[in-house]
Order: sequence, then C-alpha cells, then structure tokens
Amino acid sequence: MNENPPYLDEKTEIDNRVNDLLSRLTLREKFILLTSHGRRRLYTTKPIKRLGIPSFKVTDGPLGVAMHSSGFKKNTRFPATVALAASWNRELMNEVGAAMGREVRAVGRHVLLAPGMNIARTPLNGRTFEYFSEDPYLTKELVIPLVKGIQSQRIAACLKHYAANNQETDRMSSSSEVDERTLHEIYLRAFRAAVREAEPWSIMTCYNMVNGVYGSENRHLIQETLMDSWGFEGLVMTDWFASRNIKTTEGCINAGLTLEMPWPSKYKIKSLEESYREGKFTDDTLDDRVRRNIRVMMLTGLFDSQESLPLGSRNTPKHQELARSVAEEGMVLLMNKKNVLPLDIESLKRISLHGPNLRKKFGRLLSGGSSAVSPPYEVTPLEGFRRKTKGKLELIAGGKLLTNTVDASIIFAGLNHGRGGDSESMDRSSLHLDEKQVDKIKKIASISPQTIVCLIAGSPIAMDEWIDDVDAVLMCWYGGMEAGNAIADVLFGDVNPSGKLPLTFPKRLEDSPAHSTGERRNYPGDDEKRVYYDEGIHVGYRWFDKQEIEPLFPFGFGLSYTEFDYGDIQLSRQTLSRPEDSLRVDIDVTNVGDCVGLEVVQVYAMDIDASVDRPPQELVGFEKIRLEPGETAQIGITVKAMDLAFYDATRHDWIIESGDFKLLVGKSSRQILGDAEFTYG
Ligand code: BGC
Repeated sequence: MNENPPYLDEKTEIDNRVNDLLSRLTLREKFILLTSHGRRRLYTTKPIKRLGIPSFKVTDGPLGVAMHSSGFKKNTRFPATVALAASWNRELMNEVGAAMGREVRAVGRHVLLAPGMNIARTPLNGRTFEYFSEDPYLTKELVIPLVKGIQSQRIAACLKHYAANNQETDRMSSSSEVDERTLHEIYLRAFRAAVREAEPWSIMTCYNMVNGVYGSENRHLIQETLMDSWGFEGLVMTDWFASRNIKTTEGCINAGLTLEMPWPSKYKIKSLEESYREGKFTDDTLDDRVRRNIRVMMLTGLFDSQESLPLGSRNTPKHQELARSVAEEGMVLLMNKKNVLPLDIESLKRISLHGPNLRKKFGRLLSGGSSAVSPPYEVTPLEGFRRKTKGKLELIAGGKLLTNTVDASIIFAGLNHGRGGDSESMDRSSLHLDEKQVDKIKKIASISPQTIVCLIAGSPIAMDEWIDDVDAVLMCWYGGMEAGNAIADVLFGDVNPSGKLPLTFPKRLEDSPAHSTGERRNYPGDDEKRVYYDEGIHVGYRWFDKQEIEPLFPFGFGLSYTEFDYGDIQLSRQTLSRPEDSLRVDIDVTNVGDCVGLEVVQVYAMDIDASVDRPPQELVGFEKIRLEPGETAQIGITVKAMDLAFYDATRHDWIIESGDFKLLVGKSSRQILGDAEFTYG
C-alpha cells in the first residue's frame, strides 16, 4: 500500500479523498461496504484491512446513546423526543444534539440513529414518544438544530424512519396509502427541510410500504425524491431487517439503498455478485452507493487521527444538567384550578404521593424498544420529592392511606414502556388510562383537599372520566434520568412551566383523524394491511380545526405560573413577492404576573384566497422568550414565504398562491390574540 495515500490525508479535500479510496476498491470490497458485519457484530460494518478501513459503527438513538455500544448504565438518558418537542426551544435542541454527539463519540461510534421524526397521525402509535409532533413545521424547526448539534461533533445524524411510518401495528407488512400532496405536505416536509437546511449525513428507511412499495426499495422515495430532487448526499440505511420482505437485490440498490442493516440479506456478497453479473445494476449505481458510505465514514473521521476529532464525553454533570433543563422546559401545565400549583413548601404540612409511576424507572434494558438508554442513575418522582422537601414537610408515599388529613395528594399516573403503552413494535391499546388508575384518581380526588395529577407518558391521554374531579394536571412526558428532580422543580415553583403541546390531545379517539371513521382501512389497515390516509392533509390540529372539533387540549397549549399580555401586531412588510422573501411579525409581550416565565408566541397562517382545500390555519412561526415580572419585550418572529406554500400534485411542486394571507398570533392554536393581513404576489 502507498505510504500516504490521499484518502488517508486529512488535509486533502473530502471529495478527492473519497474518489481516491473508491478507485482502490475491488468489486468485492465495494460489496462489503454496502452491508453490515454480520450476526456477531450488529451495528457495525466489516473492516477492510488491506486498505486500513476500520469498522464503521452506529448506535441508537434517539434518547441518548442506547445500550448497543457498551453503554449499559454509562450514558445520559435524555428526555424522550416528544418532551424535547414540547420545549419549542431551538437553541436547546442544538445543545442536546451536541451533547448526544459527544456521547456517541465517547463510545467510539460514528452514527447516532436519531432523530426519529415521523408525524403523529394517530395518538395510538407506540412510538409517538420517539417523535416530535403532528406538525411538520414544528418538527422541521426542531430537527434542524438538533441535527446540526449532533454533526457538530462529527457524528452522523440519521433521520428516521423514511417515510410514512406512522404506526407500529403490522409495521413490517403494512402499506401506507397516501396521496402525493399529503405525502409531501405532511409526511415528507420535515425530512425535506432537514435535508436541505441541516445536511444530515444519513437517513434510515421505514419498515412499511408506501403506496405498495417497501421503503428500502422505493426508488421514487429514495433516488428520485431524496437524492435527485432534494440533493441528499448522505447514506441510506435500512431499518433493522427492513429488507427481509423485499424480493430483489437490484430493487434495493437501484432504489438508492446504500447500507443494509443489521446483517446481509439482499446485500449478501453472493446476491450482489449475481445481480451485478446479470447486469441488473450498473457500475455507476454501485459507485454512487459506495461513495455515499465512504463519504460519511470520512465526515465522521473514520480515517482521521484521534487528535483531530472532537473530544467525546458521556454522562458528565453538564449533560445531566442539560437533561434536567430539557425535562423542565418540556413539561406542559395542562390545568391549574385556583392556582393550586406551585406548591408552597412553607405552608404545606403533609402531602400524599401515589400512582404507578411514583417509583418507576424507565431507563431499563430494551424497555420501550431500541431507544432504551439505561443510565447510571434515574431520579424517580418520589426521589425528586424527597430531595426537594428534605424533611420540611411530611411525605406519605404510595400507601393505601386515603385521608383528608393531608393538604394535597399527587398522583403519578400515565403509561410506561410495556405492552400496549408507549413502546416500539406495537401500538397503544387505548387512549385512556387503565381502569385501576382512573378509579384511584377519582377516589383520591373525592377525599383529598387538593389533587394533582402528574402524567408520565409519551403520547396523548384521554381524561374525560376524571379531569373534572382534580385540581391540576401536569404533562411530564418521559423526562430522562433527571425526571424526578425536574418534576419537583416545576411542582414547587423553582421552575415555571413553559412547555406547549406538540400534539393535540383529543377528548375521544374517534375525534382524531385516523380514527374518525372507525374503519379498519384507516387504522390499523384492511385485510390486505393497507392503511388509507383518507384524512389527507388534515392531520392533527388541521383536522380538529377543519371539523370544528373541540379537543381536550389543543396543539400549542400550555399554562404558566405567570400571565402574558400581547400588544398590537406589526408586520415588517405588507407584500411578499418571491418564494425566498420573508416578513417579520413584531409584537410586544409583557409578563403581567409576579414570577419570571417563558412564553412561546405562535404564528399561524390562513390562506384566504386559496383555490385548493387548505387547513384553516397552519403554524408558520414561533419564538420562545424569557420575561421578568413586569418586563415587556418586543419580539420579532420571522415568517418565510415558502412556509405558506402547499404541494401541488398536478405540477409536482410547491406553490405559493398569489392573494391575501392572514397571520394569526397567539398562545396556542386555539387561543389567538391578534391577526394581520398581507399579500403574496
Ligand atoms: C428501529 C430503529 C432502530 C433500529 C436499531 C429498529 O427496530 O425501528 O428505530 O434504530 O431498530 O436498533
């Protein structure tokens, strides 16, 4: 071997390094680089000693570094993705991404199998907790900084699961039947934006079929859309065993699949050789697929000296602190009758604590599926309470005792990562809490002077049976290893809650779009396992708004311990004329309460002159600001013309129609405090 070939020279430009290595590979070596190592070394590719190509290694994702990489009890467990999303905080996403990237580096891996970014079509999807939102705009706005954060550490982010993987029931054999406009406008939009604005180095296909073609052999989705139309330059890997049901090798390679996981099936050397010999794929196609893989290897520093790479670190006090602050910012205060919260540590004497999640730890091996991160410690709600109160008041934990001698009762209810809960590979069995929990809440509420329900779950929960009986509800999500501390901080007012729902909470399952007909063809699929997305673009709040259905809690909703007043709205311009234009919505916001707080000001757009069916309103901008009591600040929210576009299936392109638009500014999708109009064209 040449002493110092260009591909090993860190100073050589990356494309030259890639081309140099590519030119040295034999046909067999190219084939080796398209697949994973094999049964004994999952999550890695085979090294090629002759050329000094080390094994390329990936790890889950998305709650931190999961256990596949000697990570058992060593890595930070961050809050679930849905909790990250509820923070509506772009900067925080970037910090979390960088922290996760450092952890991946510390375990010697190169790819983090995150973010999960499928759109929430049904609240029953078992993986809702691993995804962001029902809204593509919110998803893209948060995914972009997260990906940039991960890749700032020269670790590849991996967008997943591409595409329309919106349920776990029959995930490996069902077909999502989606029309072209809906596919682009709802299910692909955030992927497209992330590809164009964050340049992710990898993407993972879905298990399911999309319109009858599996994700890993879907040429339309991978080659034509992702690569040719969006300009994606990274690698495309299968989800684990996703190629099992696919018939041909050439189907995958011609579609654009570059890496098969977790062991060879369609990309067995023999199958590749045969298919190649029969001329079923060309050298150019092969080279493109291999080039993408080795380019990501270069980007992640596989061939570079340790000194030139960012330093990894894991489970540092800084990362733990970050996990705690994300958990705090993501919590959503849903109800707070007579301001029972925050609890006053000085005046309370006895509190009783209840519920199945009071002592529960969630970070257990494979609990919830592939995303499970098992951290060195995990602060339960009970532990958080003990630390916070430190003997200042009496805590009665989890006893049978139901008494009116306590000042308040707090119930840690919700779901877990078990069957029928928030878990990969199966969907939730119901939107409701189980009967035992409902009975308990009602019983406690009938006796206790104050009852607060803290919901630990990763997806919407119906509450009609019990919500009127209780005083406060706090949506805590899965808050990671510091969850208990974060919950106590919020309940006792050390932290003012500022999370906003990234998902609509329906009153009843039938209210939500995938379940409105109650027909199997819409969910979970007909006899042929085809799932028809008949609701089209009207997913999440788009559906509730259009059908005028009152949700239990709307998209964007979340209370605070303080109040914010909104002033008049000013637009920086009245007319936009080109797709690359944008305008600024300026508004004065005042904290009129008596504690510091964070507010998320949201901007929705309504296309007044639309010639096609459009949702009554769509999120097009938001900013999160921190205000001291009495403080007023003018905030400017940028609205981009491109975010007003819809996908025109006849032209196969995004169109911004000329005419008038209305911008609606508010605290949630259902609490609009002002509006202003402008014209496009
Ligand atoms: C999941 C992926 C995950 C992969 C590797 C699959 O079962 O769907 O999200 O990254 O396993 O663990």
